[in-house]
Amino acid sequence: MKFAFNMPTKIISGRDVIISNYKIFSSLGKKAIIVTGRHSAEANGSLADVLSALKLAGVGYDIFNNIMSNPTIDIVYDGAKFAKEHGDDFVVAIGGGSPMDAAKAIALLAAQDISRENLFSGKYTNEILPMVFIPTTAGTGSEVTQYSILTNDELETKTTLSSPIMFPDYAFLDGKYMCSLGKNTTINTAIDALSHAIEGFLNKKANEMTAIYSEKAIRTISSLFKKIEENDLSLEDRDNLLFASTLAGIVISHTGTTAVHSMGYSLTYFKDIDHGRANGLLLGRYLEFLYDYIPDKVNEVLSFMNMNSVSEFKDKLDSLFGEKEKITKEEIVIFVGKALAAKNLQNSLIVPGNDDLIKILEDVFLGAWCIMAINKPPLKKVNILELIFFRYFRTVTNFEMPRADSEYPVEIFIKDPFRKSLSFKTPWIGRMYAYAHITNNMKELLKLNDVDFENIRVHLYDWDKEFVLSIEEPKKARELQFSCDRNEVRVLLEWCVRVPEQRYRNDMED
Ligand code: NAP
Ligand code: FE
Repeated sequence: MKFAFNMPTKIISGRDVIISNYKIFSSLGKKAIIVTGRHSAEANGSLADVLSALKLAGVGYDIFNNIMSNPTIDIVYDGAKFAKEHGDDFVVAIGGGSPMDAAKAIALLAAQDISRENLFSGKYTNEILPMVFIPTTAGTGSEVTQYSILTNDELETKTTLSSPIMFPDYAFLDGKYMCSLGKNTTINTAIDALSHAIEGFLNKKANEMTAIYSEKAIRTISSLFKKIEENDLSLEDRDNLLFASTLAGIVISHTGTTAVHSMGYSLTYFKDIDHGRANGLLLGRYLEFLYDYIPDKVNEVLSFMNMNSVSEFKDKLDSLFGEKEKITKEEIVIFVGKALAAKNLQNSLIVPGNDDLIKILEDVFLGAWCIMAINKPPLKKVNILELIFFRYFRTVTNFEMPRADSEYPVEIFIKDPFRKSLSFKTPWIGRMYAYAHITNNMKELLKLNDVDFENIRVHLYDWDKEFVLSIEEPKKARELQFSCDRNEVRVLLEWCVRVPEQRYRNDMED
């Protein structure tokens, strides 16, 4: 078993841990710069505890409390200047990921002169101010990572500063500070932590040790889904969420994040969507993408959450996050360009390409949009076997040109609830590429609805009382739905399932 595991940050967890460890502060320096956000540290009692501990330790301090969410490059240069001017010789960070990330860059820039051009180069000397970190959200795990993620206006994204010297020296964990968190921030931060644990698990750099941390974090966070949603977390639950987010931080300090975070940065930069929410909106659909390639690995993650399917997980995330933001096709193209340029994309166990990223974002944002806009029941009934006849299937990489004018490449999405209502035994769910021979009947129907044949996807849904076949035109951002017969759905699924099983076998033989 080959791996390397390193966690240089000393982690001290427990109630009132700041005060009881006051002596640590005097071991680090004479005067602290306290880096924090505008309000929360004062409101949740963490600042008062730090000030008491500093007093007991006989250590001076200055407060730099203007860190905004998604901190900018300007603010960290300002903070470093402030620390130098005041003669501060160590850093205490209090807050969520934003103040903690800013504090690392401030500790670095206060100790060495780094020009803006070289800020993200990683070429630094070993000088940095000592750091004590106190997380007040249970999400980013920044208290145990070497990353400082800053808003980069030049590149119109968020860029990561990363260096082994940026691990904080101490992380003090006390869940009591999280009791003042509102429901939305609790959800967003918890799902950010879950995303770290999952992305770190389905990651090229994962190892036996990080997998243990991922599993524990995923189990802990998912066991609290119901309480998180009901905004009913006890103090002990808060401690557990904080523990899980720190574990997930340790994971990503080894593995980095993956495609979810690569795409999420644009949602935050351009659409002002909170970091954790951005990841949460994408995470379910990303797992669906991975399921096509590594179903066993994804099933392992689902089993940690006691879930049977990716769609069960997606439904949970949908109910936590509610209505999604509106994003246009043009915006998606820009976001995908940014994601492709992000370094962390390459950590993904299966690295999504341009088309995959477009599909993920379209399904998340345009899909949601369509479903809101579509026809309501009762739906027109269609005979699907008569309407669409599938000649044969191919993976997307083998995509051949259609053989006849009546054939159209389509994608068929199969959602697993079918397995329940049709007692379908196959483990396969996901996306198929196929050629559809579109019959005249179907053409008539599609023509009536002005459907562009060149670019359609077929979805099968299992609604409560009926099966629904939907024809989606991603380019037009709309979806037409028809009701269909149970037996026909079964036949169609049997066709679909036979082929991917062969495909997986072939992949393995390759
Ligand atoms: P945040 O931006 O630090 O804080 C969000 C909001 O929560 C702020 O309004 C803050 O108020 C408030 N808040 C913080 N603690 C609170 C408490 N105990 N009670 C009530 N309100 C509280 O959010 P975050 O999600 O923790 O951090 C997001 C940032 O972390 C992003 O910039 C992201 O890129 C970064 N991140 C870093 C890593 C890493 O490895 N370093 C990993 C993931 C994400 P105040 O402003 O008044 O404090
Ligand atoms: Fe994150």
